Amino acid sequence: MAIPVLRSLTLKQAIHAALAAFVIGFAITAVEFAWTATRERTAALGRAADVATLLDGPAANAARTLDRALAEEVLDGVVRTNAAWAEIRLADGGVLAHRERPLAPAGLLERAATALLFIDQPVVAQALRGPDGATVARLVIGIDTGAAAAGFLAYASTALVAGTLRNLLIGLAMAAVFHRLLTRPLLQIGRAVAEIDPEKPYGQPLAVPPGHADDELGYVIGRFNQTLTLLDREHAELRRMATRCPLTGLANRALLLDRLDHAIELAGRANGGASGRLAVLYVDLDRFKRINDSLGHSVGDALLCRVAERLSASVRRCDTVGRLGGDEFLVVLERVADAEEAAMVARRLLDALSGLPLAADHRVHITASIGIALHPAGAGNTGPDSAGLMRMADAAMQTAKGEGGNRFVFHTRDMTDRALARLRLEAGLRDATAQKAFELVYQPKIEAAGGRLTGFEALIRWRHDGAMVPPADFIPVAEDTGLIIEIGRWVLEEACRTATRWALDHGPVPVAVNVSARQLADPGFARLVEQLLQRHGTPPGLLELEITETVIMKDVHHHLPTLNRLRALGVRIAIDDFGTGYSSLAYLRQLPVDVLKIDRSFVNDLPHAPDIASTVIALAQRLLLSTVAEGVETMEQRRWLAEAGCDCLQGYLISRPLSADAAEAMVMTAFACNEALPLSA
Ligand code: C2E
Ligand code: MG
Ligand code: MG
Repeated sequence: MAIPVLRSLTLKQAIHAALAAFVIGFAITAVEFAWTATRERTAALGRAADVATLLDGPAANAARTLDRALAEEVLDGVVRTNAAWAEIRLADGGVLAHRERPLAPAGLLERAATALLFIDQPVVAQALRGPDGATVARLVIGIDTGAAAAGFLAYASTALVAGTLRNLLIGLAMAAVFHRLLTRPLLQIGRAVAEIDPEKPYGQPLAVPPGHADDELGYVIGRFNQTLTLLDREHAELRRMATRCPLTGLANRALLLDRLDHAIELAGRANGGASGRLAVLYVDLDRFKRINDSLGHSVGDALLCRVAERLSASVRRCDTVGRLGGDEFLVVLERVADAEEAAMVARRLLDALSGLPLAADHRVHITASIGIALHPAGAGNTGPDSAGLMRMADAAMQTAKGEGGNRFVFHTRDMTDRALARLRLEAGLRDATAQKAFELVYQPKIEAAGGRLTGFEALIRWRHDGAMVPPADFIPVAEDTGLIIEIGRWVLEEACRTATRWALDHGPVPVAVNVSARQLADPGFARLVEQLLQRHGTPPGLLELEITETVIMKDVHHHLPTLNRLRALGVRIAIDDFGTGYSSLAYLRQLPVDVLKIDRSFVNDLPHAPDIASTVIALAQRLLLSTVAEGVETMEQRRWLAEAGCDCLQGYLISRPLSADAAEAMVMTAFACNEALPLSA
């Protein structure tokens, strides 16, 4: 805020300083004047006395001889020395002679000055003596008060002007000093205080203006900062008390609702994308009341604290764990990819609680029931508000309790089933990966024109709980969990081993292996392929890597160096499911690719809707790439593809994926009948 000049401290200071300087200055001047007046008066009287002493001889002579002419001559001399008048008075009282100087009429100022200097009409009288020492007459001199007053006035006016000027300068100097030492630092402090963020008043202490660290201003600022810090602490404590559970230190219901509202708002902005989903986990301890009743409240409280610690330690920093009261806790998970992720966290929480005895000196094991609600529940679903979400999670928790506790339940049965199935799948996949309990099947590819065998595509198979799990179901889980790196390595090794064995036993047959996004992104992937080829003595030309179009195109720049390294090894590269992604034709020309695999969906459309298949074949021919049609199921499709110039065919019409033995038998027959294609390179 700008302070008007008329009300500013600077102006007030200046006025006061000037007034003080004037009052003091004028008091001093008055004393000076009085002193000067006394001096002037004494000097005038002294001068007259000197003249009287000087003319004492001739004046006494004139008086003794009653020589009036001589007396007048002497008196003329006296009045010439600035006396107003002079006379010689005889002892008998008569006046022998009288002389006076004509005086100019005095002005008002002069009269006032005369009155100040001489209240009476001062005279100097000198006794004139005869030879016997007796007084014969007196020489009386009247002082010229006007001349003395004029002298005094001349001095006084000069002194007054000089004094006024001096007072003014002193006043200004005092005002400047005050401004520099006081007003300016005060203004700086005022500005700093005005800049304090009311939302965060304690963020930054006030700075002490330079040069005031150890004076009163520094002291004021120090105290101010100290007060701010104290207030900050108290504020934080108040906030903590208002938002935290006093026993466990976890967020209380109010804070939980606030966080939940905030998370819902963020989720709304992300429009339900993977980063915009959140899960609410309502955790209720099983049979806590019994523990409390039998072991006492202090053990119960200690247990709740340990539970709080365990829950907090089992979630990410961005998640919120709070206590709703009693033995009920709420966990808010932000940015959850899907229901499965929420289920995994719930599983972790249950494991964390049941893992260890929780109360010291008491072998108490605790379990919990967890109800899970998701927001939004599905695509295009805006979902309930925070209170609604909590209610849904609460209801799900009650279901979990009803089912015996120590479990989690989603607010819809369907989600619970899916999450449990996914958890089971994941656990099974981990075991299978550890035990390498997979199998590879091989689907042959043949020359479209002649029908000769050109190679195989290796496809992974997993038998889990007595059923065959399709790769489309477990490969995404393997990708999510990172297990694909190990699984992919196993597939590659197995394919290399098989290709080498077939080559040694029968003849060279290329084997294609599918590579997932995560494998390709792994910086050690090219090196791994090189090592495996070396370890198994596999000619690189026998290995083909199939990478789906969407994976390559998603991050061409990132994948290009790996693809180039693989190509430099002599490995062939195929773009799988071609036509389903958005290939940039410019990139396609730069990519080190050998084969385009026309996606099954386009082959399916043949021969009625051949546009895409024929476009892909034309494009491949233009770029000197070979084409493989996937999913060929009918003779019409086969015929159309052969006529359109497609190089190779793969599909149920030719053969379903075969076991390794069956595939080997096919290789053997092909070489025996000379039906396998000799390698091009
Ligand atoms: P893909 O690489 O496009 O493999 C072709 C899929 O089409 C195979 O399914 C194959 O059995 C199926 N198929 C072949 N011909 C026909 C046909 O005429 N009609 C029909 N309806 N289907 C046919 P599969 O084995 O279930 O594999 C599915 C996908 O799983 C594969 O698609 C591939 O992307 C992935 N996959 C399979 N094995 C592996 C692997 O070892 N590693 C990785 N990363 N992915 C794999
Ligand atoms: Mg494939
Ligand atoms: Mg494919």
